[in-house]
Amino acid sequence: MRLPEFSFHEPLTLDQAFATIKKNNGNARFLAGGTDLVPLMKFGLETPSMIVSLKKIEGLKGIAEDNGYAMIGALTTLREIISSTVISGKLPALSEAAMAVAAPPVWNVATLGGNIRQQTRCVYYNQSRAWRLEKEPCFKAGGNVCHAVPRGKKCFSVYCGDIAPALIALDAAATISGMAGPAEVRLIDLFSNDGLSPFTLEKNTIITGIKIPVPGAASRSGYAKLRVRSAIDYPLVSAAASVALDKDSIITGVKLALSAVGPAPVAIDLNGVLVGVRIDTADFTALKDVLPKKTQIADNLALPGSYRRKMLSVIAKKAIMKAAERAAEKETI
Ligand SMILES: Cc1cc2nc3c(=O)[nH]c(=O)nc-3n(C[C@H](O)[C@H](O)[C@H](O)COP(=O)(O)OP(=O)(O)OC[C@H]3O[C@@H](n4cnc5c(N)ncnc54)[C@H](O)[C@@H]3O)c2cc1C
Ligand code: SF4
Repeated sequence: MRLPEFSFHEPLTLDQAFATIKKNNGNARFLAGGTDLVPLMKFGLETPSMIVSLKKIEGLKGIAEDNGYAMIGALTTLREIISSTVISGKLPALSEAAMAVAAPPVWNVATLGGNIRQQTRCVYYNQSRAWRLEKEPCFKAGGNVCHAVPRGKKCFSVYCGDIAPALIALDAAATISGMAGPAEVRLIDLFSNDGLSPFTLEKNTIITGIKIPVPGAASRSGYAKLRVRSAIDYPLVSAAASVALDKDSIITGVKLALSAVGPAPVAIDLNGVLVGVRIDTADFTALKDVLPKKTQIADNLALPGSYRRKMLSVIAKKAIMKAAERAAEKETI
C-alpha cells in the first residue's frame, strides 16, 4: 500500500506550525510518531494534503513534577512514560496503560498526544480500499448506512485508546494550543462521543501536554485490558481506576473510566456503589448492572459485543483491585 501525495512541513515553533497551515490553506494533519496516522493514510482513510510534523517543535517533550502536578509533554514517547519512576510510582495506571499499547517497538516512536488523539476504529471501516469497495459506504465513509448496527442512525466506531481512560481516572487535563491561543481542557471534555468526528477540539489544535494532579499516599491507580493477543492488540474493553483508602482499608473515593466501549471513553461515578465499605468486603456485583448501561458497545471489534459487555465488570473489578492493593501498600508503609 502506497502513501498518497502530500506536502510535508517541519516547523520549529507552534507559531510556525499555525502560520504554515494558514499560508497553505490545506487539509492538514499533525504528525507525531505516525503509528496511527500513517496506516490510516495507507488504507486511504485519511487523505491530508499537508502533513505538519510536530517533532522539531521545542518544549513538547519531557516529564516533570511541579507544584503537586505531573506535567508530561505531548510528544513524550510511550517508552519514556514507561521508564519514568515518577509515573510508575505515583501514577501506575498511566504506566500500565502505556505498556498495554501495541508492543515494545511501537513504544519507541508512539507519543502521548498521538495516543489520545487517535481515530476511532471499526471492523467494517478499518480495511483496505479493495475490501471496502465490496460494501455500500457506511456513515463514516460518507454513506447512509451502518454495517455494525443495521438500523442505526449514527456511527458507533470505537475509541480504542489505552491511555485516555487512565488519564481520566487520574483527573488529568490537557493543555492545548490553537489559532485562538492556549487553553486547558479536562481530558474527558476532549471527546465528543460522535464516531464520525470523535473530538471536540477545533480544527488544527495541538495538544501540547498533559497535567495530572499527583495523588496523596492513600490513593493509587490501576489499569486492566481485555484483548485477544496480549503481544499487540487494541483493547476490546479496558478500565482504569483510581482508589483512595483510609487506614482501615475503607474506600473513601473511587474513580473509574472505560475505553473501547463506544465512540468515547466513559467516566463512571461509583461513589454511591463502593464508597464507605472495606475493600476486602466490597460487593462488586452491582457493576454487572451499572456498567453496560453507560456504554454503547456494538458488534464492531474482534469479539462479539455481548461478550465484551459481560467482561466489563470483570475488567473493571481487576482495575479497581489493582488500585486498591497499591493504595493499601502505601497506607502500611
Ligand atoms: C499494530 C498496532 C497496534 C496498536 N495497538 C494499540 C493499542 O493497543 N492501544 C492504543 O491505544 N493504540 C494502539 N495503536 C495505535 C497507535 O500506535 C498509538 O495510539 C500511538 O500512541 C499513537 O501515537 P503516535 O504518536 O504514533 O500518533 P500519530 O499517528 O502521529 O497521530 C495520531 C493522530 O493524532 C494526531 N496528533 C498527534 N499528536 C498530536 C498532538 N500533539 N496534538 C494534536 N493532534 C495530534 C495526528 O494528527 C493523528 O490524527 C496501535 C497501532 C499499531 C500500528
Ligand atoms: S460503526 Fe457503522 S458507520 Fe461507524 S464505521 Fe462502523 S460500520 Fe461505519
